Amino acid sequence: MFDKLKEQPADSLLALINTFHADPREYKVDLGVGVYRDEHGRTPVMRAVKLAEAYLLETQDSKRYLGPQGDLSFVSLLKPIIFGAGPNLGDRIVGIQTPGGSGALRIGAELVAAANPNAQVWLGTPSWPNHAPIFRSARLAVKDYSFVDLATQKIDFARVVEALSSATAGDVVLIHGCCHNPTGIDFTAEQWKQVAALLVEQKLVPFIDLAYQGLGDGLEQDAEPARFILDSVDEAMVAYSCDKNFGLYRERVGALYLASRNSMDLYIADTNMASLARVNWSMPPDHGAAIVRAILESKELTGIWKTELQEMCARVNGNRAELAAAHPDLAFIATQRGLFSNLAMSKETAAALRLKHGIYLADSGRMNLAGMQPADADAIVKALHAEGAL
Ligand code: PMP
Repeated sequence: MFDKLKEQPADSLLALINTFHADPREYKVDLGVGVYRDEHGRTPVMRAVKLAEAYLLETQDSKRYLGPQGDLSFVSLLKPIIFGAGPNLGDRIVGIQTPGGSGALRIGAELVAAANPNAQVWLGTPSWPNHAPIFRSARLAVKDYSFVDLATQKIDFARVVEALSSATAGDVVLIHGCCHNPTGIDFTAEQWKQVAALLVEQKLVPFIDLAYQGLGDGLEQDAEPARFILDSVDEAMVAYSCDKNFGLYRERVGALYLASRNSMDLYIADTNMASLARVNWSMPPDHGAAIVRAILESKELTGIWKTELQEMCARVNGNRAELAAAHPDLAFIATQRGLFSNLAMSKETAAALRLKHGIYLADSGRMNLAGMQPADADAIVKALHAEGAL
C-alpha cells in the first residue's frame, strides 16, 4: 500500500536551520526561520513563562483530561487581550483551545467545509506558506490574488478590491490581523475601512489570523484592526497563536474564536468546534495553555510578560530602523511591522547571499528582522549590494 505514496518535499526553511548550524564561518547572520531572537541571538524562555512554570510545578495537582475544548479559563482570559474589554464580548464570541495557530486554522477550515463545502477561501499572496495547504487539506478551494507587489513593497489594493468584489456570498477571506507574514505590510486605517465595507457588502466571512499580537506596535494597537472588522461584520473567525508573543513555540498554544450575532448559531458552532477537535487530536496539549492562563490570572506575571513583550517589539523595530537607515532603498523596512520583510529577489540571489556572505534568508527573499543585531546592518547591505539585490 505505502508504495503508492509520493515523496513530499522537506520544508526548505526548516532545512535552512541545519545548513546555518553546519556553516563553519565565524561571521554569519540567520534571518531565516521565523522565531524571535534577542541581542545574543537566542530565543529565550520569557521571564513570566519561567515564573508561571515554577508556579505550575508547585500547585498543579492533577493531569486529568480537560476535554476537547482544552483549558476554557485560558480561552476566556485571552479574550480581553484580543478583543478588548468592551461589553457583550462573551455574548458574541465562543472559542476553543487549539495546538497553536495552525490547529486553529485547521479547525476553522474544517468548520467552513462543514458549513459550506462550496465556500472559496480568498488568500492574498504572498502569505504564510502553510495557509493554502491547510485550507486545501480541508477540501476547500483556495483563490489566490496578489496582495503585495514586492517590487514596490506596496499593497496592490486595486487587486484586493477586485478579488473581494468578485467573491461569492459565503466565501471566506483570510486576513492577517497584524504583522503580515512574510511582507510586514498591513492595511492602512483607510484600507481597513474599505475592506470591512466590502466584507459586509459582499457577505463574506473574515478569517483573521492573529499570530504576532504585540510584536508590531503593541498589544492594543495590533488588535485594533481585528476588533474593527469584528464590529463591522455579523460572522467572523479568529485563529490566534500565543507561540510568538509568549515565546512558547514548541508548546503549541493557540485558540480558535468564532463570532456571530445569532446565539443559537454560536452555540451550535461551539459544539462543532469541539467535535472537530475530538476527531483531530481529541484534546489539545495542556502545558503551554496552562502557562498562559497562570500568567493572565496574575496581575504581577501579566505585567512582567507585557514588559518583556514590549522589549522584544522595540528590539525588532530598532533593527528595522537600523537596516532602513543603512541604505535609502531599504527605507521601507522601517515602515513595516512584525518579524518579517520580504525583499524582491530570485532564489539564486538568496543562495548567493548564503554561500558567499553568510547571510541566511529564505529562498523567497523573506528575512526575519529579529535574527540580526544592529551592528549587522552594514554587512547585510554590502552583501545585498554585491549580489545585485540593491
Ligand atoms: N499564522 C501565521 C501567519 C504564522 O506565521 C504562523 C507561524 N509561523 C502561524 C499562523 C502558526 O502558528 P503556530 O506556530 O502557533 O501554529
